[in-house]
Amino acid sequence: MSRQAEQIRKFEEDRLIQAYFEKLKVLIGKKSIFAQQIGLLDVATYLTEIFEEAGAEVILDDSYAAPFVMATFISPVPDAKTIIFYHHYDTVPADDDQIWTGQPFEVSIRDGYIYGRGVDDDKGHIIARLSAVQKYQAVHEFLPVNIIFIIEGAEESASVDLDKYLKKYQARLTGADLLVWEQGARNVLGQLEIAGGNKGIVTFDMAVKSADLDIHSSYGGVIDSASWYLMAALQSMRDRDGCILVDGIYEKIQEPNERELALVEEFALITSKSVTDLYGLTLPPLVADRKTFLKRLFFEPSLTIEGFSTGYLGQGVKTIIPAQATAKLEVRLVPGLEPHDVLDKIRKHLVTYGFEKVEVTFTLGEMSYRSDMSEPAIINVIELAKRLTPEGVAVLPTSPGTGPMHTVFHALGVPIAGFGLGNANSRDHAGDENVSIADYYSHIELVEELIASYE
Ligand SMILES: [Zn+2]
Repeated sequence: MSRQAEQIRKFEEDRLIQAYFEKLKVLIGKKSIFAQQIGLLDVATYLTEIFEEAGAEVILDDSYAAPFVMATFISPVPDAKTIIFYHHYDTVPADDDQIWTGQPFEVSIRDGYIYGRGVDDDKGHIIARLSAVQKYQAVHEFLPVNIIFIIEGAEESASVDLDKYLKKYQARLTGADLLVWEQGARNVLGQLEIAGGNKGIVTFDMAVKSADLDIHSSYGGVIDSASWYLMAALQSMRDRDGCILVDGIYEKIQEPNERELALVEEFALITSKSVTDLYGLTLPPLVADRKTFLKRLFFEPSLTIEGFSTGYLGQGVKTIIPAQATAKLEVRLVPGLEPHDVLDKIRKHLVTYGFEKVEVTFTLGEMSYRSDMSEPAIINVIELAKRLTPEGVAVLPTSPGTGPMHTVFHALGVPIAGFGLGNANSRDHAGDENVSIADYYSHIELVEELIASYE
């Protein structure tokens, strides 16, 4: 029997896992979408019931934006350490523009995969981990470690007010041994990814108004336009190799240490060629050499124009000098860079280079967090995962994407490891979000082993 089939068989025959899988079906059936303010209290209440029934001490707090659930399983062992599982019960919507084979809010199983909105991100992870705690307790007299689930309801909307809840319960949560991130996935080789961070971001608008109205373009040789002016300003901020030309940014970044560089070089599968093939790129990559490519992607900031709008773009011809031009931009941040400080440096740059007419407006900011994965609690996770995963593990100190890890680390100061039950094509936020049954069961086994490692 293949390993996949073996894991599926264990999943099907395990009565406790099946009982919790029924609860996952209910959980996915209950919509909870922060952006639409749907079902948040209802789902938080349902989670409270499930965790109380499992023997946890539960706090349901709705003081701030979305109700927050904190469920604690206390170990009777004196001076027991603590593991925190960070989760969110909100999901993104499943709008009509997404293609689903079944109903998004109804769990369906096909060919060894479980489908449904939130089955990976993040409801499936909540139930799988709770199942692991219960499975451990079913065969052991007591837990060797305290376990706290913190479950927020606004993760898909930039974790509104999570910082407030973390501050409120900081005293209970600091000093933990390990925080397990909400989710994780296997890469295309089937290796279990263990991630230690994510990049930050600052997004902003740049706008120029050069006149009260668009002007006849016969004046093109004597009147400057918002379009040329903004383009020149943008041009001054980055060179053609993709390096940011704004003073003081690279000086501030925290260089990766040797272990971080080595992890990325060993485990990152992405290359300039794979990105070229994936997206059908027609322009040459900014960096081709693998080492430089990985360093740029994982450890350096990037400046991107997300959109640019100016002048007449309608049918035929309109001979004008546009009076307005606007652009949307972002800088992806790495440790050492703070959103507002980066924006101040950009403002200063524009003034220094003679573009003081550009109006810069901050829209959104999130800090980055990175870890070299050398904390004993994380090494423990890596070793357990290696032992339980025949396909192997891929340990990455950060992902090139952005998320709220910094908020959590900043508030609690606990080492973070992200690993989970997703796969390389789990399609989070898209139609047919899925996890494989074998991965779901393997994750439960890994979490059980993690608990046992504290014996
Ligand atoms: Zn998530």
